[in-house]
Amino acid sequence: MGFELTEDELAIRDLARDFARGEVAPGAAERDKKEEFPADAVRKAGELGLMGLLIPEEYGGAGLGNRALSLALVEINRVDASVGVTLSVHNSLASSCINAWGSEDLKRRYLPKLASGEWLGAYALSEAGSGSDPGSLVCKAETDGDAFVITGSKAWITSGDHADVIVLFARTDPDAGKHGITAFVVETSWEGFSVGKKELKLGIRSSSTVTANFDGLRVPRANMLSDVNEGIKVALHTLDGGRIGIASQALGIMEACLEASIAYAKERQQFGKPIAKFQPIQWKLAEMEIRIQAARLLTLKAATLKDQGKSHSSEAAVAKLYASRAANWCATQAVQIHGGAGYCTDFPVERYFRDARITEIYEGTTEILKLVIARSLLRK
Ligand SMILES: Cc1cc2nc3c(=O)[nH]c(=O)nc-3n(C[C@H](O)[C@H](O)[C@H](O)COP(=O)(O)OP(=O)(O)OC[C@H]3O[C@@H](n4cnc5c(N)ncnc54)[C@H](O)[C@@H]3O)c2cc1C
Repeated sequence: MGFELTEDELAIRDLARDFARGEVAPGAAERDKKEEFPADAVRKAGELGLMGLLIPEEYGGAGLGNRALSLALVEINRVDASVGVTLSVHNSLASSCINAWGSEDLKRRYLPKLASGEWLGAYALSEAGSGSDPGSLVCKAETDGDAFVITGSKAWITSGDHADVIVLFARTDPDAGKHGITAFVVETSWEGFSVGKKELKLGIRSSSTVTANFDGLRVPRANMLSDVNEGIKVALHTLDGGRIGIASQALGIMEACLEASIAYAKERQQFGKPIAKFQPIQWKLAEMEIRIQAARLLTLKAATLKDQGKSHSSEAAVAKLYASRAANWCATQAVQIHGGAGYCTDFPVERYFRDARITEIYEGTTEILKLVIARSLLRK
């Protein structure tokens, strides 16, 4: 499989890099400290076309693929993983789900606003009692004429308090387990929607993670993203793509860790010379580079397969599992190379270390991803 990047892909990577370094990086540490949602960065990303990378041109998007999105996400996560996850959820979960599963009417109504960044998207699958096991979710959707009435709560919803549109999974058959779930698009301005608890987090602190409450919210049948009780496959297929986004996030964090570590190791003197002269430090840098190269190839492979319309579920799981574990390893080494300075907030590796942790948890924990990979092996 060749990984030569197209001119369009290179242009998006460079655009995202300039945006990340020029406009996202300067406020990242301060936003993290204040847990402040990166509204300006999200607005600017919309103006630059980074909110509609997967949306076809006819609906106002860039009409590019998952490789382009991955390249952009790496650059953004390299400076701020909170902006990174906000854009990843918007592009690879909310927008791509409506694009892949929505009717023509839904695409015309929602995709142009999502592509321009005028509207922000969220994805509501998890609940307090169902994370790794979405088939046990209980938020219910009951039929009422030509509408469904949604009652229940969704937990840990990224951007749930800033989103205009939510891709929502709700139970339409109480006795059918994972085969009793239906997918919908809902608008947060509709009566019956409210935001509950805002999570205080270890990392990605300026991204917003909230409980979303639905109290008798009426969603028209026209807003169904799946047939009745057919929602689980929409949820799982969409997560396959989302995992490429999180692998890209992990890769961006790893690159940031290496860049910061090289700079510090050249600068910091001990025993009369820069610590970069010591072989144990060099080995850490080399081990970080090895993991970055491997994660980049795995992520590009999964994205390429998805763009080619080929099966990519296991490859996306491999990429996300490897990259997220490697990001945590690299962040640990980056803190170690910085010594005491790495444990304090004056240097960004402290933030990278906290941000890396989530990549092994959301959109499929490491344990669940192993099950996805093993299932694919045993089917062969
Ligand atoms: C910051 C943040 C943002 C998030 N954003 C979103 C979002 O936008 N939308 C959304 O829908 N969800 C979101 N989530 C939820 C996230 O996807 C879940 O937290 C995740 O899927 C894990 O579910 P859980 O927390 O319920 O853990 P659990 O499922 O309770 O798992 C706990 C532990 O048990 C392990 N485990 C569970 N089942 C098995 C098994 N069968 N075999 C082996 N081990 C197992 C897990 O790997 C984990 O280590 C977010 C979470 C966080 C923290």
